[in-house]
Amino acid sequence: MLPIDFIDNMSNQLGGELDAFCQALSEPAVVSIRLNDKLPKQQLDVMAYTSPSERIPWTDDGYYLSERPRFTLDPMLHAGCYYVQDASSMFLEYVLKTFVDKDSVVLDLCAAPGGKSTILSQHLSDKGLLVSNEVVRQRVFVLSENMQKWGNGNCVVTHNKPAEFAQKLPSVFDCMLVDAPCSGEGMFRKDEKAQEQWSLPNIQMCAKRQKEILANVWDALKPGGIMIYSTCTFNQTENEQITRFIARDLGADILQLNIPQQWGIVHTDGYRFYPHRLRGEGLYMSVLRKHKTAYSDSIRIPPLPRRRHITDESLLRSWLQHPEQWHLRQTERFTVALPARYADLVEYLYAHFTCLSAGFGLSELRGRTQHPQHSLSMSKELVAKQFCTVELDLPTALDYLRAQAISLENAPKGLVLLTYKSVPLGFAKNIGNHCNNLYPNEWRIRIANS
Ligand code: SAM
Repeated sequence: MLPIDFIDNMSNQLGGELDAFCQALSEPAVVSIRLNDKLPKQQLDVMAYTSPSERIPWTDDGYYLSERPRFTLDPMLHAGCYYVQDASSMFLEYVLKTFVDKDSVVLDLCAAPGGKSTILSQHLSDKGLLVSNEVVRQRVFVLSENMQKWGNGNCVVTHNKPAEFAQKLPSVFDCMLVDAPCSGEGMFRKDEKAQEQWSLPNIQMCAKRQKEILANVWDALKPGGIMIYSTCTFNQTENEQITRFIARDLGADILQLNIPQQWGIVHTDGYRFYPHRLRGEGLYMSVLRKHKTAYSDSIRIPPLPRRRHITDESLLRSWLQHPEQWHLRQTERFTVALPARYADLVEYLYAHFTCLSAGFGLSELRGRTQHPQHSLSMSKELVAKQFCTVELDLPTALDYLRAQAISLENAPKGLVLLTYKSVPLGFAKNIGNHCNNLYPNEWRIRIANS
């Protein structure tokens, strides 16, 4: 049963549309996926779930599915070929294409589990840098995992408070996304807990927190920079009122997009997604430009110290498709590949923030041998032909992803790159009668076949 105060609020907002809205909330949530550009679309197994007519109108990469498959048992999901995401959230891609250059430095402040960060990293490609931050510790690991699987090296995952970005990186970001923690009304049909936890005082508490988050991080945005604010709730207190707070109290202009009417999106001070008007969950998104005249206390990122010797550099670079685009950061044991054009900024992040991952892990030195890291196998930069590749069938691929022992008949001994439908899943060491499974234990899937 929907809370009565919620129905009252929605009645004021929707008038004669209330019944259609309540009816939509009683129906199952829409299932949709967004494809990675790791592979040509037609090669993707996920296309078997859908058909081209089911494309989501406001994105080039999103598709509706007619049913919910057991995603966990699809190796392509674990290989980062697609992300299971609500269709409404994919509207971010449309906003980015309209307002955000591909060579921007972007902060995704409330990023876990990473759905919108995968859109941001795909938009920026190899020209920009994304800092994906999550303040809640238990949630930051899944964010890092999802970003590594997505496979772009243009992302740094951090675990810091909003104010730290304003203090340590003033006027550094060209764009910020604040996908704020909210009362979650738009998730009512996906998540029963959202209904149980709903109350009018909670809306006020969420709005207070949203203002604090925005005020605390605001100075990190460059004058003239783009702020994208979003929630998955319907009430105006957490949506239009917060957008107006950004505009008036922090100092920004609200921006508008051209939206075809047939998409069913409602324009207020932002863009509203209602489940009775379109196929997607509840979402609100607004876009603002920080006043160009805003006071800016910018920071000079110190340049990197003179280039140090990199052990086994030519071997490590031979694993990369564009070796010149990567700065190799080497500690005694590990080598990480960072986007060369942002190496100073990433080093600064390492020094002043809690970084969980940056770029992608390239290798671990054990004894005298460089062992490729799992993150390399997920990366779009991987040169697969540098490794001996073994194609797996579905049951063996799933055993590998469960971090179980597998055996590879007729495969060469030593390090092998395992693939499923030609997409890399990770590395293993073939000993002969069995394999050492090198899949990250903390990522392993935990459900059986049926
Ligand atoms: N953007 C994410 C995505 O697309 O996958 C979803 C983000 S979710 C709506 C909001 C996030 O804000 C949660 O991960 C939550 O842990 C985080 N959060 C909670 N309290 C916060 C705070 N005080 N400051 C910043 N982030 C917070």
